[in-house]
Amino acid sequence: MFHKDLGETGKRLFRDFPVLRMLWESGRKKGIAELVETVRRAEEFKRNYALPYALELDKRMEEEPEYFDWEIMRQACRYRFLSIFIPKQLGGSAGEFMVTNTSLLMDELCSGCSGMALAIGAHSLGVAPLVTSGAMGHWDRILGEIVEGERKMEPVTMAYAITEPSAGTDVEEPEFLEVAKLSLEARKVQGGYVLNGRKCFISGGSEAKYVTVCAALDKSRPLETWTTFLVERGMKGFSSPRVELKMGQRASHAAELLFEDVFVPDSHVLGYEGDGMANGILMIMAASRGPVGAIATGIARSAFEHFLRWAKTRRNGKRPIDEDRIRMNLADFWGMIQENRGLYMSNAMLGDSIFGKVLAAPVMVLTLSLPSFVRTNKVMNDFLNSRYGKAMVNAIMRYYIKDEDITQLLETASLAKFSCSDNAMELCSRALNLMGPDDSEERRWVEKAYRDAKLTQIYEGTNQLNRLVVNNVRFEETLKVEVPRPFKKGVVS
Ligand SMILES: Cc1cc2nc3c(=O)[nH]c(=O)nc-3n(C[C@H](O)[C@H](O)[C@H](O)COP(=O)(O)OP(=O)(O)OC[C@H]3O[C@@H](n4cnc5c(N)ncnc54)[C@H](O)[C@@H]3O)c2cc1C
Repeated sequence: MFHKDLGETGKRLFRDFPVLRMLWESGRKKGIAELVETVRRAEEFKRNYALPYALELDKRMEEEPEYFDWEIMRQACRYRFLSIFIPKQLGGSAGEFMVTNTSLLMDELCSGCSGMALAIGAHSLGVAPLVTSGAMGHWDRILGEIVEGERKMEPVTMAYAITEPSAGTDVEEPEFLEVAKLSLEARKVQGGYVLNGRKCFISGGSEAKYVTVCAALDKSRPLETWTTFLVERGMKGFSSPRVELKMGQRASHAAELLFEDVFVPDSHVLGYEGDGMANGILMIMAASRGPVGAIATGIARSAFEHFLRWAKTRRNGKRPIDEDRIRMNLADFWGMIQENRGLYMSNAMLGDSIFGKVLAAPVMVLTLSLPSFVRTNKVMNDFLNSRYGKAMVNAIMRYYIKDEDITQLLETASLAKFSCSDNAMELCSRALNLMGPDDSEERRWVEKAYRDAKLTQIYEGTNQLNRLVVNNVRFEETLKVEVPRPFKKGVVS
């Protein structure tokens, strides 16, 4: 395969991300070609679907926040965005560059419409705990259903629920979880657990068929008893009564979830009782905060592209771009975008060098290449869902991934998250100021980007929290993430 076979998309990506060119030249051609193909599909989504429709949908969602346009998810099926985090052996597209692929996809989609992108990306966030916890007993059924739904253009989605009405920042950091005031509680009963309480602001929570939910088994000892559950739509007592009126990224719902005596069987614990923070949330945040940096970057790029078009448009015989102050700002904006890309890319590359080893491990390849009926056979499935099955997968993970690697990944993820979102906010704000009270369509796009960017400073941990994470990992070494270890409950130092 030659460089030119990657087409215009490859040419642009190699120019914007020289590291991809370097990897291509050093022989990682197949993986890089897959990344280019993802971005090419995202460009098509942006051109044909997002750009012509985003402003109209944004307006409609302001007036009718309950409305959800399933066409977004059907388009996501068409372009195969729902299986981006699902291993290839199970029919998805997660391969050698799984995290980089997700980040590049988010950057590109968000340069079209970050509301639509969040509807798609929040689903992958829901899938992530199923994959990173090594819950192979559920993979064929649920991940298989997502892939099949994608093929048939009948979207099946997931969501990730950790935030509670009185605990947002507190559930994202071990030190704060210890003192969090929680409203959701899980109680152990014969054969499973009963969940009671609420979660809030859950992206895609009102549409998701499966939700990964964290809850304490004892609210007075949340850190020691924080556990991850797989909850399914249709479980008695589980509902999503309302969604928020959002300032930005409106195409995606932020839902409240209600749990009224919801029985969740033992087999639906992801990982083990009590490991929900050390091996649960921190692992997920290490993999997902970088892509939030990419979301912010895509939003910044949307503002930049519309600002540039505005700057080149002649008004009263003059073009704004003919003024030096506009030209200098454009260069600054591009600098911010490239700085962002450097940050989220270094997190993504590190993520792939860590997770790629597990997916490529011979025992993993062997297990995943078994025919599905072998893995879903009752004996095998019971084993994979048992303590011993989980221990086997965890042992493999521990062999390939070290605690220091995941801890470093968390640091780079938090750094990318707060830096990229702050840059996006700064860029949108400056662009709006420069455009002044202009009633052009370009200004409407920049105004939308401004509202959209704000949310990236909040979700996946506020930027204040992410700054503390960087401090705690790098300067004080008080925060360490643990790779799930067989039979061991979560411990966070
Ligand atoms: C659009 C959107 C989508 C979301 N999607 C999801 C989702 O899919 N799943 C999910 O579980 N959650 C989701 N969330 C929730 C999100 O993660 C929380 O909003 C976020 O963690 C902040 O929590 P909070 O809103 O309760 O704010 P609070 O925790 O109340 O924070 C309020 C302010 O106080 C600051 N603060 C709080 N504690 C400290 C501290 N100890 N030190 C310094 N400053 C502090 C915060 O930084 C912030 O500025 C979403 C939120 C939004 C806005």
